[in-house]
Amino acid sequence: MNGIVERFNKLLDLSMDYLEDGVRKEHHGNEAKPEIIEEDSLDRVESEIAACSRCRLCENRIKTVPGKGVLHPKVMIIGEGPGAEEDKTGIPFVGKAGQYMDKWMDAIDLRRDRDLFIGNIVKCRPPGNRDPHPDEIDACRGYLDRQIRILKPSLILTVGRIAAQVLIGSSNGIGRLRGRMYDYKGIPLIPTYHPSGVLRNPESYRKPVWEDLKAVRKFLDSL
Ligand code: SF4
Repeated sequence: MNGIVERFNKLLDLSMDYLEDGVRKEHHGNEAKPEIIEEDSLDRVESEIAACSRCRLCENRIKTVPGKGVLHPKVMIIGEGPGAEEDKTGIPFVGKAGQYMDKWMDAIDLRRDRDLFIGNIVKCRPPGNRDPHPDEIDACRGYLDRQIRILKPSLILTVGRIAAQVLIGSSNGIGRLRGRMYDYKGIPLIPTYHPSGVLRNPESYRKPVWEDLKAVRKFLDSL
């Protein structure tokens, strides 16, 4: 019960963010029913992304990849950006790395269709799978933050260096960032390696990823 109260209080803290962004509610002292200015939704965010030209990544995309999964997921997985398969299909993490990540999730009893929402920092594919540039990340960041507010995941799992650095607000490498839990706007966040990195170098990364996945399972079991 204490955990629920603590989480509730954290969600209340988020109300300041809502006010600043003007997308949720306006509070008027002790009024029982806050006025709803505008109800945001995943569909709305998705349709805005589909029409977006806020950065140069719109120029070469085939499809936008807004993210996919269940509302109020146990875990929201966030990578850096779509790859070639994702660009073709509009679905996140469907290539080899995504299939490998499904196995990670299976190992800790989590499924895409029941427990997860999977998305990326940027919603359009960077050419040649290069890292997204800072101005592209800044241009796209608002969509991700709106998705997080709407989804209210129990936990965020970032995969790879870029997603961890952006959400933790650090320039440290993933090897230094992983191994502990952070807080992102009131939501616990665990960073780990990207599945494509683990596929390239399993000897180095499989063990720490398994430690991180066990931390995810342990946190969920504690709720
Ligand atoms: S990456 Fe994000 S900001 Fe850039 S065009 Fe795509 S949806 Fe818009």
